[in-house]
Amino acid sequence: MTFFPKGEVHLHLRGAAPKEYFLAQITKYLGRKDLFQPFSSTLQNRLFSSRFAGPILKELLSPGIASPEEILNQLFSYSSFDQFLESYITTASLVRSAEDFSRLLSQTKASLRQQGYRFCEVTVSLSEYLMMGIPLLSLLEQLVLSRSSSKEPYLLFTLDPVRNFGALAAENLLQDILQYSSEVFSAVTIGGDETNFPGEDFAHFFSLARESGLKISIHSGETCGPAEMWRVIERISPDRIGHGVRAAEDPKLLEYLAERQIPLEVCISSNLRTGVFPALHAVPLQQIVGAGIPVTLNTDDPTFFATTLENEFELAQSLCPELTQEDLCKLNFEASFLPNDLRERLLRTP
Ligand SMILES: [Zn+2]
Repeated sequence: MTFFPKGEVHLHLRGAAPKEYFLAQITKYLGRKDLFQPFSSTLQNRLFSSRFAGPILKELLSPGIASPEEILNQLFSYSSFDQFLESYITTASLVRSAEDFSRLLSQTKASLRQQGYRFCEVTVSLSEYLMMGIPLLSLLEQLVLSRSSSKEPYLLFTLDPVRNFGALAAENLLQDILQYSSEVFSAVTIGGDETNFPGEDFAHFFSLARESGLKISIHSGETCGPAEMWRVIERISPDRIGHGVRAAEDPKLLEYLAERQIPLEVCISSNLRTGVFPALHAVPLQQIVGAGIPVTLNTDDPTFFATTLENEFELAQSLCPELTQEDLCKLNFEASFLPNDLRERLLRTP
């Protein structure tokens, strides 16, 4: 039997946590009077901006109206990118202590192990946990602990300082982390709201990351089109691009990405669930692959998008039948930020 090792490069920590984790957290905190108070004001002022009505948060702020199961269902129902973002950010308020964060890591890693992953590059939106009052040192220690466990999957962590906190906060956070250690994270990215917080504003943050030996990815070309992608590429020169699928709207951009062999982190179910594309046939994977751009397939937030890597591979193959499962597995490993010797070992050893 042929051996296809499983790994992916674009997975958000909380987005991959099992639903049981969120249900336990809702049950744990629901009765507390002050539950979402500090979080809600920050959300409204800085994270949600005026575009968000915050219905889920209101529900959570009124304990007794809904059961934990009902709240959980509501958290996982959305049909637009904004609604998804609101749900996603709201779940950060359920991680309120170093112990909560430690269980988030261990339960997520156990779930990834169960699914047979050999490695995962996991994006951690550290600012959200800091906002909940968990000390930076505790967060970093838990990450180191989780990575040092000999159990698979092998984890690489990507720091996401969260766009909405602004470029200066991102730089300060990175500097604080580097004072502690330059080994906790292997890469940086920024996810979230591309429209209001353009990637090129974070050029200093990214150059500090590069000087410190960290790899660079950036979510771009998901909600915004090629013009924003060009700006990001010119100002930041990322090693990979998160999503990047809207590059297909600009043949020159496709040509450029192919020439430089800049891999895209494609997440098909995510794009369908957040409404980037109305239907599977509209996902321009064939155009991207046909242009010669290295493509990785990823789950992004598998718990929120009800998907698995196997499912993403199937979707990709229905769009590009010429891609074999072996090709797809290899592409994910080849574009990863794994150290070369480890990449080879994981690819060779069942
Ligand atoms: Zn993402």
